Amino acid sequence: MNSPEAARAALMAIGREFHQRGWSLATSSNYSVVVGRDPLRLVLTGSGFDKGRLTPADFVELDRDGGRVDAEVPGGPRPSAEARLHVVLARTAGAGAVLHTHSVWGTVWSEAVVARGHLRLQGYEMLKALPGVTTHEAVVDLPVYANTQDIAGLAARIEARWAAPTPGLPPAFLMAGHGLYAWGRDLAEARRHVEAVEFLLEVLGRKAALHGGWNPGDPDHGLDTHS
Ligand SMILES: [Zn+2]
Repeated sequence: MNSPEAARAALMAIGREFHQRGWSLATSSNYSVVVGRDPLRLVLTGSGFDKGRLTPADFVELDRDGGRVDAEVPGGPRPSAEARLHVVLARTAGAGAVLHTHSVWGTVWSEAVVARGHLRLQGYEMLKALPGVTTHEAVVDLPVYANTQDIAGLAARIEARWAAPTPGLPPAFLMAGHGLYAWGRDLAEARRHVEAVEFLLEVLGRKAALHGGWNPGDPDHGLDTHS
């Protein structure tokens, strides 16, 4: 288990990397690491900070209900409205770390397939970076939710879905026009899941461009994802 200090340092490094890679621009995104299980404690990035330039002062510490357990400083960091999603994933989905990004490809794909409710990922070796996937032929349907200001309502749906996951449900979902949430048992695993999903989103996007477009009526996105 990470100390709160180690968690902050690790998330500062994640912020520098994800900002450089274009996944966390313009103060978007938020990241958390569980630093205690009994009782649940997590360190979360405060709202509105440049993720490429995080300092140890830019974090908050929350309990299992999203309440503050660190000292609130006037003018100091505050949790974003999305903090509730981190808390729910930490207590229900076995997440030891949750990483939320706002990438270009995550934004594009989430909007394109929100009516269907998922984005199908199939036929790629990179899928093996996800837990339980042993063959590139696996079918992974990445859930996509409509963007909403009702984070409490979305958190309840997320909690119910990952409390009783269907086979093949990945540790990740998209919010339409918004971005990706991915998590893992620890920060290294969460980072791997973000990297794998962001890679696959970019591959599908570039492939659609290469093949002259995308057919939303085709269950395979109108792409031949098997060759
Ligand atoms: Zn967000």
